[in-house]
Amino acid sequence: MKTTIAGSLPKPAWLAEPEQLWADWRLEGEALERGKRDAVLVWLKEQEDAGVDIVSNGEQFRTHFVHGFLEHIDGIDWQLMTKMGIRDNRYVVDVPTVTAQVRRKGSVHGDEVRFTRAHTDHAMKFTLPGPMTICDTIADTHYGRRADMATAFAELLNEEARELEALGADVIQFDEPAFNVFTDDVKEWGVDALQRAAEGLQCKTAVHICYGYGIEANIEWKKTLGSEWRQYEEIFPALNKSRIDQVSLECANSKVPLSLLGLLNEKELMVGAIDVASMDVESPEKVSATIEAALEFVDAERLMPCTNCGMAPLPQQVAAGKLRALAEGASIVRKRLGIAED
Ligand code: ZN
Repeated sequence: MKTTIAGSLPKPAWLAEPEQLWADWRLEGEALERGKRDAVLVWLKEQEDAGVDIVSNGEQFRTHFVHGFLEHIDGIDWQLMTKMGIRDNRYVVDVPTVTAQVRRKGSVHGDEVRFTRAHTDHAMKFTLPGPMTICDTIADTHYGRRADMATAFAELLNEEARELEALGADVIQFDEPAFNVFTDDVKEWGVDALQRAAEGLQCKTAVHICYGYGIEANIEWKKTLGSEWRQYEEIFPALNKSRIDQVSLECANSKVPLSLLGLLNEKELMVGAIDVASMDVESPEKVSATIEAALEFVDAERLMPCTNCGMAPLPQQVAAGKLRALAEGASIVRKRLGIAED
């Protein structure tokens, strides 16, 4: 029963404005590049000391999980910013525009993986935006159909993912928060595009679908979803048939009925046992209770205790506390089940 995190962790206050999603850097030039690497070292140490098994670089290198990738892609016009209501109009943001065929200029995250790999012996996860979520975070005057643009991005993501695997990433995770918003598109082309992005990878592949960071727009949106969140029910059968190995979903203080986990009986499940929308650090007992509840619907061998989502917007100390709570909560469950700690 290995623990892991969804991906992002807060930037230290000396690196970027704290407690914000699209935070401005507080350093520049060479100092900024050095600062990002130092922040990765801090978070690797925090994860390892907490007892998290599969670690991440905390996305310290990027400002935003989608634009951090797109900045290295040709075919995008960053002067042509378009106001777009993304995630079905949950937020309105200025997004760049695809105006020509998209192509990787070169390696996007290779140096980041090389650096992180050199500084941890733990299994390492690397997160990339999923093709559908990219297409919901960018305007288009070239492809016309979203499904076509998604395929084009999936091919680029696949090139990148193969490179990151060769550099030592043990898990490549695609973040697809758009998956529970456009459930019909997921079935029509979203899962296909995701599989195209993961094609040929020998490492573990994962998808993080989620209801978003604990920011105001998401908290308001969640109020409109009713007392039970059943969006996953629409898409889990297609995901269960896919070649993706692991699926992440939020189970801490969530309205997702845990019985839906039963629809993913072919997959490993990253069970969110840490609420990223709350400043309160969970007790290990609370975490273990969430894991135990999920165990009713998923075997222990397929269950990976995780955070609900990224922790980027939280204060640094709160996130560090939540890492420890996650590992300690998992430890309680392992002991009860007689599973050895690795
Ligand atoms: Zn998330």
